[in-house]
Amino acid sequence: MASRVIPVDPFDLVIFGGTGDLARRKILPALYRRFTAGQFATDTRLIGAARAEMDARAYRAFVREALAEFAPEEAARKKPLAAFLDLIDYVTLDARGEAGWDALAQKTRTGRIRAYYFSVGPSLFGDLAKRLHKHGLAEGDARIVVEKPFGHDLESARALNRTLARHFDEGQIYRIDHYLGKETVQNLMAIRFGNVLFEPLWNSQYVDHIQITVAESVGVGGRGEYYDRSGAMRDMVQNHLMQLLCLIAMEPPAKFDPDAVRDEKLKVIRALDPVAPANVVRGQYEGSESQPDYRTQAENPESTTESFVALKLNVSNWRWAGTPFYLRTGKRLRERASEIAVVFKDAPHSIFGPEAGRHRNILTIRLQPNEGIELGVTIKEPGPGGMRLIDVPLDMTFAEALGSEEADFPDAYERLIMDVIRGNQTLFMRGDEVEAAWAWTDPIIAEWQEAGTPPLPYATGSSGPDDALMLMHRDGRRWREIRP
Ligand code: NAD
Repeated sequence: MASRVIPVDPFDLVIFGGTGDLARRKILPALYRRFTAGQFATDTRLIGAARAEMDARAYRAFVREALAEFAPEEAARKKPLAAFLDLIDYVTLDARGEAGWDALAQKTRTGRIRAYYFSVGPSLFGDLAKRLHKHGLAEGDARIVVEKPFGHDLESARALNRTLARHFDEGQIYRIDHYLGKETVQNLMAIRFGNVLFEPLWNSQYVDHIQITVAESVGVGGRGEYYDRSGAMRDMVQNHLMQLLCLIAMEPPAKFDPDAVRDEKLKVIRALDPVAPANVVRGQYEGSESQPDYRTQAENPESTTESFVALKLNVSNWRWAGTPFYLRTGKRLRERASEIAVVFKDAPHSIFGPEAGRHRNILTIRLQPNEGIELGVTIKEPGPGGMRLIDVPLDMTFAEALGSEEADFPDAYERLIMDVIRGNQTLFMRGDEVEAAWAWTDPIIAEWQEAGTPPLPYATGSSGPDDALMLMHRDGRRWREIRP
């Protein structure tokens, strides 16, 4: 079953920060894979733009090295690699000055799609928008892709939205959250709205609770200084976990259309109750024999930034009142594993008696590793042992279900960049959504700052602080094990 590739119209893509880490690891490999898949027209142009002084030839060598490291298999094929490098150009440019902008204006062409990827620090987003506008580059079919973080709090997010709005319409702004580009995340919508099976059960009458876990096994590593100013709440919850929660909790949109979907997501964020301090647990990892603790990595011995957070949330609307959502995310946890688990209620009456045990249906959406969806169902244990019940998974691991070719999914960046070119904003955050998420997040962070209590220590390789386990235990529930 070969995947169907629909070519996109020719475009010029400028990568501001084209020599940076994100460009090397994600953006350039994603573009190369879409190119080799046959998705680009021949006169597509990709232009790196950064402060480094180099010419197009040197930048091509840079791109070749990045691909050899981050897309080695595809980069080993000489012919497509050479054809891809032919599309590449470079401009030395300063976001904060005038140098390089005229050269960029000459290289991009009007009358075609022009996309500008802001892969630079957030303090430069406003400068880039302003200069694109000033040099006539924002006109026509132009669009900008803005990386995270989108603001640090509500006030800064609003200010950034206002700045961008001075130079671009909302329909030209693509705020990227790569979690939304994951195959499984989109499949969540397909499962919910493409089947009659789940939707009637998708409410507080049948769902006991929902768990969202995004666990990383690595620490803050080289990003310590940046991370220490942010913390898990800003870096993960306000954006990625909030987006996942919205997709699970939203009402069916009337159509799969950008504004229809984003309107429904926004309603979820606005329906969130403020979170009482007792429903939040913050943690900070300790060191191990071989690994330094958080404060050492953050180079801040007094740091009170959280590397872990767990929360219990209520979505106060007709569908979800009474069904809690438990969210947790952290670094240096036991495994790198992310999943959403929809835990259904017990059957109203067990005809098999207490010895059959307690069994529940759980729909698990695994985001990483091994993207896939699994439905736990209860069956009779095979054999002569009487009516003993066991839970078995109906596994929809895509790699197995769809065969190896289809399972070679485009990475989230591949899909999202192609959506930018197609002009489809469904999987990108709208300005009001981002602001609503900050409006909900800010009071939680303000409360921590006021209380001045430090985060709880937790061991490297654990499941976070014990208080996070208690957050569920006290409700008679348990977190699922963090495992790949
Ligand atoms: P980086 O520091 O590795 O690269 C920054 C790039 O910006 C370089 O190409 C540099 O030349 C360019 N630059 C800096 N100042 C400039 C100026 N005045 N004018 C023009 N260009 C300038 O950063 P990164 O890790 O690639 O991150 C880029 C953006 O992506 C940031 O907003 C970051 O938060 C976000 N992001 C990065 C990652 C990641 O994995 N690296 C993940 C998610 C989001």
